[in-house]
Amino acid sequence: MKEVVVANWKMNKTCAEARSFAKNFKELVRERNREVVICPPFTSLWVLQEELKGTGIKIGAQDVFYKDWGAYTGEISPPMLVELNCEYVIVGHSERRNILNETDEIVRKKLFCAVEHGLVPILCVGEKLEERERGETEKVVEKQLVSALKGISEDLKVVVAYEPVWAIGTGKNATPEQAQEVHAFIRGILEGLVSRDFSEKTPILYGGSVKPENAKALLSQKDINGLLVGGASLNPESFARIVLC
Ligand code: PEP
Repeated sequence: MKEVVVANWKMNKTCAEARSFAKNFKELVRERNREVVICPPFTSLWVLQEELKGTGIKIGAQDVFYKDWGAYTGEISPPMLVELNCEYVIVGHSERRNILNETDEIVRKKLFCAVEHGLVPILCVGEKLEERERGETEKVVEKQLVSALKGISEDLKVVVAYEPVWAIGTGKNATPEQAQEVHAFIRGILEGLVSRDFSEKTPILYGGSVKPENAKALLSQKDINGLLVGGASLNPESFARIVLC
């Protein structure tokens, strides 16, 4: 399967900064084999869809609400994202689960509403440090996956991102072997939950302190089909090095 590399800019970059990044970055990654997706703040989606037109670089949102329209102050709906040529959307990022108290049920509603409109959800799952230390990594990851994906049709395209919370923004990435172990476990859960075809065609990305220096070793693992990159995606040169590694 084609590997997928996703940039999650979080709450970074004004429209002017996003435009300057895109002008620079698209020239650096002309020759690439991987699917590239950039998820800027909502305010810069329009700018990126203009600047990246015709490049094959895809755009994603960092979140979405689970209704099409209505009295939901501050929220953004799937049709609004589709109109901006967004193809992907991140759901269940640990910062939303832990800082904004998003529950598994909310993540599930967002995921199902996104796929109904043809968006590809990037479902983030991962354990906290204390959960890993208690030996609960598999239990936590399985619960998040089952809750978000139970009942999903096997024809739908979904991306899963394993992001151990202790590795996000800490500079401390999971080792390729630690990540591979959980990715293989996720692959098995997807097979049991949906089907073997679904599990084989679903890219499972690793996220958590990915840098140009560790990207290749992570991608060399059998069940790591791409990367979700936060901090190192903010600079066009470092993100390009990861895409091209
Ligand atoms: C993320 O927030 O999805 C992420 C992986 O961040 P970082 O690369 O900065 O750890």
